[in-house]
Amino acid sequence: MKRQGLCILGATGSIGASTLDVVARHAERFTVVAVTADTRADALADICAAHRPRYAVVGAAAAAVRLQARLHDAGVMTEVLYGAAALAEVAALAEVDTVMAAIVGAAGLPPTLAAVRAGKKVLLANKEALVVAGELFMAEVRRARACLLPIDSEHNAVFQSLPRDFAGDLDRAGVSRILLTASGGPFRTLAADRFAGITPAQACAHPNWVMGRKISVDSATMMNKGLEVIEAHHLFNAPAERIEVVIHPQSVIHSLVQYVDGSVLAQLGNPDMRTPIAYALAYPERIEAGVAPLDLFEIGRLDFERPDTARFPCLELAYRALRQGGTAAAILNAANEVAVAEFLDGRLPFQRIADVIEATLAALPAVAADSLETVAAADRRARELAGAAARRRQ
Ligand code: NAD
Ligand code: MG
Repeated sequence: MKRQGLCILGATGSIGASTLDVVARHAERFTVVAVTADTRADALADICAAHRPRYAVVGAAAAAVRLQARLHDAGVMTEVLYGAAALAEVAALAEVDTVMAAIVGAAGLPPTLAAVRAGKKVLLANKEALVVAGELFMAEVRRARACLLPIDSEHNAVFQSLPRDFAGDLDRAGVSRILLTASGGPFRTLAADRFAGITPAQACAHPNWVMGRKISVDSATMMNKGLEVIEAHHLFNAPAERIEVVIHPQSVIHSLVQYVDGSVLAQLGNPDMRTPIAYALAYPERIEAGVAPLDLFEIGRLDFERPDTARFPCLELAYRALRQGGTAAAILNAANEVAVAEFLDGRLPFQRIADVIEATLAALPAVAADSLETVAAADRRARELAGAAARRRQ
């Protein structure tokens, strides 16, 4: 069997590490061609020593120099590149069959789109890429006949619960609704008057998943679920009113699809990203992922609640941006990225994150998202406005 050539964008992150773990279990199936990181040259050097890729890409020259030196000392032959153009280049290499898109934030859009345009099998963890440019992104997927497989656990669960030949028509597939589950995050039961004291460390301590810091804060505000509603809209061609969020604190049911005949299909498993990663890597086959089997007796019970949009307004803001359409989702995402970074740096109180996003959406009217330039301009302007709004709210 020819080994699948992999490019892992964001190899030093949480999804990157889980991907490399699954890959290492199946050396006969996969070969790592390229890995990328932003600043963590030492971590990327360790990955290169273990997986021997042909190329490693970092964000800037200083990190490239450091990586080069580390690889030289270790006798590793990986070629070092840096910068945004190099990211897009390795994602489109002829020897790359599959691209894991696991960069965090809108920064992941250009290389992910390069992989799509090159007709690769694209494993999408980078939900922000789809939120920012959903229509344009999906049009490119169709045009280039790329195979797009969702890694986000909810969307992977929905994908697994839809008919294998699903082609974007919910009615034809007999689907009435998509139910996205949400853990509710670390503050699910915290009283509203205690939100003011939330620290970055508390926000990053997710009860069920170990993830990067940005998505951890998104889970704590529930903006993560809002971004996922928009992601589901694009992936499954589902209008906002057919996507419902269900709080499910145990994170065992990863999402559900409700059919017109009353059937509800779901995917269950222990909360471990190696399951959706292994599913997508081997699709349409199944491979071992290193995940402990689900023990229903140990779990005992599964609970469900309605989301509380008074304490978690970000979810509602995302629905609003989705209904508004055009560049609204790009504006929402950019403002969220700025607000989360300000919160993580200790400059913005947790409960002000939603205010910054709402103020940015109000200040910047959405326009038709007819080109990537329009989307990029909305993203830039939203970042400026959100920065200003955050300074007013310190
Ligand atoms: P992380 O912060 O752990 O890792 C992010 C990776 O992206 C790192 O390798 C980093 O070097 C790279 N990166 C960051 N900024 C960059 C930039 N400007 N240019 C190039 N590279 C950059 O994040 P993560 O938790 O692994 O999440 C990655 C993506 O997957 C996010 O979009 C997140 O929403 C999504 N996701 C993550 C999980 C999870 O369990 N961690 C689950 C579902 C979806
Ligand atoms: Mg998710």
